[in-house]
Amino acid sequence: MRLSRYFLPVLKENPSEAQIVSHRYMLRAGMIKQQAAGIYSWLPLGYRVLKRIEQIVHEEQARAGHIPLLMPTLQPADLWRESGRYDDYGQEMLRIKDRHDRDMLFGPTNEEMITDIFRAHVGSYKDLPMTLYHIQWKFRDEMRPRFGVMRGREFLMKDGYNFDIDKDAALHAYNRHMVSYLRTYERMGLTAIPMRADSGPIGGDDTHEFLVLASTGESEVFYDAAVTDLKLGAREVDFDNRDEVAGICKEFTTLYARTDETHDAALFDQIPEDRRKVGRGIEVGQIFYFGTKYSEAMGATVVTPDGSKVPVEMGSHGIGVSRLLGAIIEASHDDKGIIWPEGVTPFPVGIVNLKQGDASTDLACEGLYKALKAKGLEALYDDREERAGAKFATMDLIGLPWRITVGPRGLANGVIELTSRRTGESEEMSAEAAVDRVVQIYEGHR
Ligand code: ATP
Ligand code: MG
Repeated sequence: MRLSRYFLPVLKENPSEAQIVSHRYMLRAGMIKQQAAGIYSWLPLGYRVLKRIEQIVHEEQARAGHIPLLMPTLQPADLWRESGRYDDYGQEMLRIKDRHDRDMLFGPTNEEMITDIFRAHVGSYKDLPMTLYHIQWKFRDEMRPRFGVMRGREFLMKDGYNFDIDKDAALHAYNRHMVSYLRTYERMGLTAIPMRADSGPIGGDDTHEFLVLASTGESEVFYDAAVTDLKLGAREVDFDNRDEVAGICKEFTTLYARTDETHDAALFDQIPEDRRKVGRGIEVGQIFYFGTKYSEAMGATVVTPDGSKVPVEMGSHGIGVSRLLGAIIEASHDDKGIIWPEGVTPFPVGIVNLKQGDASTDLACEGLYKALKAKGLEALYDDREERAGAKFATMDLIGLPWRITVGPRGLANGVIELTSRRTGESEEMSAEAAVDRVVQIYEGHR
């Protein structure tokens, strides 16, 4: 992408409405524009990151064997009357009437609708296990929308629903989600800690929230510092192997890590003092096992091998896709701007032309741009007639992890400069070597 032809409306001044760094940088980097309280347009740069995050979510769901579909944003109230939640949900639900005076709502979540799909089309144990998910906009009329995309009213969520023949199978689905979520967040450069939580209005016995540690997080968290060292890494997981998947969950949930809702001071005191931490966290996902709560209320049954009919066992599992942009920035920035992890960056690398209009620098930049493109990497090429300082400031603000700087002085010696946004360290090398290096860095990320 050539910056001269892109739409990147960066702001020089700090927007006064933004109280936390991620909101401030998302506005300044021209990623989002507020349209109403808690409702945003996703401008091109923000949209690119949102799509990257969605793609990682899809890839990791596929790896766990989960099936994508798409349900509508608008739902008929009657479905929610069946579960009893139409009256229970309260003012967070946006209620709408259509021209025939029928009650509709903008979905805050999809348990009822997915149960309706299941009961219409599935009836036998032979079709199970089955996990369906979608990535769709939700609306919750939050009392206090704030912090930009972190607590929006309209927000993008991945929500998945498992259907299983018995409780053991449903608990395996729960564990499978925990492990696939761990990998999902790690690919985004995040440490998201599964913490035992309270189930709230969805109801159920088992639930964990995934929290990213950040001083601006809305939840108070209590944890053993050793949990932050746990990593799934590159391990191959056989998602059908119940013991293996349960073993990984055990590894990640044995050390103390809880939000204030389930905090237990007596247990917390047993942690060695130097590892006992109180902090704040951002909830980026949650998994629930709730058994037959919805299937019983809505008559979603399956025939078992012995011929009896039982309500199907279920759980639901969510990832805050749009909130993740804020969480990643909270976890990865400095005083100049965002520092995108390679997994989610909008562009893998930026090219800064220090002397636009100079035939040899222009030619070298074009050559780099095309060589990267031929390797499947779309650079953001700053080809504007701008001072070098302004170009660097823009690159630092929008946070591409790597920058290639091209100027006449270096070119005279046959070199360009490759700079890491995270460390600020630069290295001189030939243009070919820089392309190879960037290609190598992104192996495994795209
Ligand atoms: P919170 O406690 O933050 O209000 P929740 O527990 O009500 O969230 P869930 O029903 O668990 O939310 O939804 C799944 C995920 O969707 C959450 O973990 C969070 O990442 C995201 N999410 C929830 N509400 C919002 C919101 N208002 N804006 C952006 N993301 C949200
Ligand atoms: Mg939650």
